[in-house]
Parts: sequence; structure tokens; C-alpha cells
Amino acid sequence: MNETYTNAAAEADKISKNTQPQRMQELQTMQQAMYANLGISDKVYQFSKEVLDSLASRFAEIDQVTEYNQLKVIKAMQDNKVSEACLLGTTGYGYNDLGRETLEAVYASIFHAEDALVRPQITCGTHALALALISNLRPKDELLSPVGKPYDTLEEVIGIRPSKGSLAEYGITYRQVDLLADGGFDYEAIEKALNQQTKLVTIQRSKGYQTRPTLSVTRIGELISFIKKRRPDIICMVDNCYGEFVETIEPTDVGADMVVGSLIKNPGGGLAPIGGYIVGKKECVENAAYRLTSPGLGKEVGASLGILRDFYHGLFLAPTVTASALKGAIFAANIYEKLGFRVVPNSIESRHDIIQAVEFGTPEGVIAFCKGIQAAAPVDSFVTPEPWDMPGYDSQVIMAAGAFVSGSSIELSADGPIKPPYAVYFQGGLTFEHAQFGIMKTLQSIVDAGIKKL
Ligand SMILES: *Cc1c(COP(=O)(O)O)cnc(C)c1O
Repeated sequence: MNETYTNAAAEADKISKNTQPQRMQELQTMQQAMYANLGISDKVYQFSKEVLDSLASRFAEIDQVTEYNQLKVIKAMQDNKVSEACLLGTTGYGYNDLGRETLEAVYASIFHAEDALVRPQITCGTHALALALISNLRPKDELLSPVGKPYDTLEEVIGIRPSKGSLAEYGITYRQVDLLADGGFDYEAIEKALNQQTKLVTIQRSKGYQTRPTLSVTRIGELISFIKKRRPDIICMVDNCYGEFVETIEPTDVGADMVVGSLIKNPGGGLAPIGGYIVGKKECVENAAYRLTSPGLGKEVGASLGILRDFYHGLFLAPTVTASALKGAIFAANIYEKLGFRVVPNSIESRHDIIQAVEFGTPEGVIAFCKGIQAAAPVDSFVTPEPWDMPGYDSQVIMAAGAFVSGSSIELSADGPIKPPYAVYFQGGLTFEHAQFGIMKTLQSIVDAGIKKL
């Protein structure tokens, strides 16, 4: 036994014999020293701990939702008889893939939906949304967004910005009704926008790269009721990216016909290395399947290769991973609001997705924040993020992520378009401890850059 080990063991032994408050004190001292090792100053540490101490009741509320959702996932897995055989995969055509079919049944159960398409062949969230749209729309149909501008990458899918293969190229038109200044639905304008061509309504739950409020599932339900009352035939689709497991209900519980998302966000639990899902009405899901594979083949093909174990494992962890990300977002909101920046959502309001926006008002703030997130990463912590012209976006974007799954934004990550109001969008954290450390690193970076003094 070497001397360092003996000393550490003696130290640990001493701590264990102390009373609980003494042990807490000692552990905190060790913790602060470890933070110092990782470049966190005493000032940043103290400021962060004070903010954290004020958040206990918020976190307790999240824990309640998490407990419910964890049980919901376990129940769905048990009801659908997930077995060890389901974790294996098929090759080639992938006919009769037990694991794939069972996983799709599990998703349908969780979302209380008729059917689901959950596939590694869906490459990302944009692909899942494009697939849902183009498979359920036909030439001369009209798509309506009653919640304002959709996510940036969808502008090219729809053809708002001309793009090869867009819905516009197929003669599918698009109409948009913006939210009112207070974030409410403009029901009058929505009513006027509905016409004989309107076939599908797309509702984005999350704020995306905007500083509008995220929609709660209940509010989405109100909007769907309004539309269905006038036009029960219209397909109501929800872009659920970043929203899964944040509440105890999902948009399918309030009348959505089709709910779409990415597996490298919440429902993949950080373990899914690729994939997207579409859940909802059988007909909508079938249409998507025939488009994803081929007319005549639909859901029957699509080998799962060796990926299903990670899909199941990730889904099982998704409620707690989402909770960690949510706590990180609330921590960030409280830190930056206290420093005088506008944060969306603010420090106290209820949450409906895991994204936290912080408005810095200057490119320097956005860049310093992203550098802090990068410096906290387990992978690629030594690289420095820079703004670049990213495909699909109309301005330069800076992105920080040091992820186990490339580009995964359920892992701690931040991005900001370099355009006014110079807001950074922060999300993820597979563990709260990592999210907390990441935010502390951003604060250190902001302080070191002279943008704010503590
Ligand atoms: C992430 C996201 C998308 C697109 O997903 P990708 O996987 O990045 O293609 C679409 N809509 C919203 C609201 C998102 O957050």
C-alpha cells in the first residue's frame, strides 16, 4: 500500500467517524477543491451554491414528474413484454423484427397512441418532421403553422427558403399565423387561415431558436380543440422535440394526430446514437412508413442491426436524463437572471421543454458562454468552438458540445445564432452534476472575459 493511499484512507476513515453535519462540511471542502482543480474560482463556486440552495422545492417538483414518467416507461415495457430477445437485432430486409415491433408498441403505449414508427433509418429530428409532412400531404394541400415561424431547418423542408425537394416544389402551399405579442394564439387569424386546402396543422411545442414561450401540452390541447371543432378532418401534428417527459402528459394525450421527435434528444436518453420517431393515428404513421421505406413495404422492412439495445436502454433512462437537463436549465435561468440578463423561461415559471435561452445582447456573451460549455465536456473539452456557416441556418451559428453521440443535444450543449438578440440556447446534461458544472464553467468564462463582475 503506498503512502498517498494510506493517507487518503485515513482521511476518509476520519470523515466517516464524524457527525453528519461535519461530514457534509468536509465533503463540501473537498468538492470546492475539486472545482478549483477544474478552474472554478471561489467566487463562482459560492455564487452558484447560493443559487442552488434556493432551488430545492423546484427540484422536488421535477422529481415527482420523473417518478411518474419512470413508472410509465416501465409499465409500457412490461405491458408489451419486452424480452431479452427484443434487444437483439436483424439484418438484411429485417422482416419480423421482434425488437423493432415491440419497441414501436412500447412507444405507442407511452404516448397512448394507435401506432408508432421508431427507426434508426430516420436520421434526425428534421428528417422525422419532413417525413411526417411529405408523407401525409399531397399536391395542392396546404400546411398551416398557427404558432409562428417553425424551427430553422423546417424553412427549407417547407420551402419558405427555396430548397431542392421542398414541399413547395411538390405544389404544397404554406400559411403561417404568428403568435400574439403576449404569446397567445391569434384565434381570429387562425380561423381565417383555415381553408378548403388546409390539410395539416403543424404545432411546434418548443421555442426552438426563438424567445417566444414554449407551449405547454395543455395549451397545445386547447389549440387542437379549436381547430378540430371547425375542421375535424385536419391532421394536427406536433413537433415534440425537447418536450418528451418534461410533463406527465404528451401531445397525443390532448388530441394530436401525430407527434414527432428525435432520438438524440430526450427519448433516446443519451444512449440512442441516431434515430427519430413518429407516433399517432395508425393512418398517419402508415403513410410515414410507406414513404420512409417504399409503397407496399411500409413498416415491414428496416433491419434494426444492433441498435435496439441502446434504444430500449435510453428510453428507460429518458425520464431521469430529461429531469437532469431540466434542473440544469432552471439552475442556468436562476444564475443568469440574478446577473441581470433576460432569460427565457424566467427563473420561476413552469417548464415545458428543456431549452434555456439567455439573451446576452452581444456576440461576445454568446461566444464566452459556449466556450464555457465546451470546457466542461467529457469529450473534446480542449477544443475552442467558433461561429461558422452551418447548413440549414440563415446566419452564423456557434455550437458547443463535447458529446459521446456526435451532435446529441440531450447531452450538455449550447448553441447560438450570431444575430440579434444574441441569445444562447442551452440544453441537456445526462446528469445534473454535469449540467451544473457546465453552467459554472460558463459563468467563469463570462467573468474571465470581463463581461460581468461577481
Ligand atoms: C432539434 C429540433 C428540430 C430538428 O431536429 P434535428 O435533429 O436537429 O434535425 C426540429 N424542431 C425542434 C423544435 C427542435 O428542437
